[in-house]
Amino acid sequence: MNGEFIPADQGVISVRTHAFAYGTGCFEGIRGYWNEEDQQVYLFRAREHYERLLRSCKTLQISIPYTADQLVEISTELVRRNGQKEDVYLRPVAYKDAQIIGVRLHEVSDAFLLTAEPMGNYVEIGGLRCGVSSWRRIDDNAIPARAKICGAYVNSAFAKSEAMQNGFDEAIMLTNEGHVSEGSAENIFLVVNGELITPAPSENILLGITRDTVIQLAQREFGMITRERQIDRTELYVADEIFLCGTGAQIAPVIEVDHRLIGDGKTGPVGQKLQDLYFDVVRGKRPEYRDQWCTPVHSS
Ligand code: PMP
Repeated sequence: MNGEFIPADQGVISVRTHAFAYGTGCFEGIRGYWNEEDQQVYLFRAREHYERLLRSCKTLQISIPYTADQLVEISTELVRRNGQKEDVYLRPVAYKDAQIIGVRLHEVSDAFLLTAEPMGNYVEIGGLRCGVSSWRRIDDNAIPARAKICGAYVNSAFAKSEAMQNGFDEAIMLTNEGHVSEGSAENIFLVVNGELITPAPSENILLGITRDTVIQLAQREFGMITRERQIDRTELYVADEIFLCGTGAQIAPVIEVDHRLIGDGKTGPVGQKLQDLYFDVVRGKRPEYRDQWCTPVHSS
């Protein structure tokens, strides 16, 4: 925090902090996976996460004094200093730290902090029951979903709580125009006639790193092309398979949407094989992807 490594309980933010009152910050969620055989924690696609953080910063007029590579370095050092030899979740936050009253983006000072904590599964990965949310996804001209903006997560929280309080596991949000957008913290894929379909970038989605990973793995390993396009709500009901994906959710097959069974109501073959492959890749068990996407934390 503020350029120093400090115990988490000393990492305090003032009650007057701009970002606390106005949500004027942006963040990332990055996973590190423990590989028992290599006695190593691998950060998955950390560089791409930090490149996205810097793009979010640009949108929010936040400047932090680090490059993406320096942020990766800071991350590996934090996990090393914590002595973490387990699955971890890193949460970098770049935020407006000025202690002022006044809602704006310009001429407000910025700060950066990063935490790393142990983490298992974020959502059920054995078959999610989802509901289409009555809350619409925020539009690019309201709060751009393309940036991972703290305040925007109120939109996600409305959707997630509504879904859970109605007995579902997760929400699927639509755009203002009524097209499928994404989950509260996950991108969404459909399998239809052996093809992958996912909402196009202009459907007010966060351009997920897991989404990109899925697109690349599906093509390289299974020769499956992904169509990025507008998707209607009722396409969900008749898809052969659906899965959500994200750093937290990983790859989470959906078995029900709005009380309609997806396929035969069980994890489908494409979701299953992508999930199996994904877990191998993120844990650094596939050398060709390890070299490209996994950053080792501990010195070997
Ligand atoms: N959409 C939203 C709204 C999210 O919060 C996340 C999680 N960061 C995702 C999609 C998935 O993004 P990623 O795969 O980069 O974690």
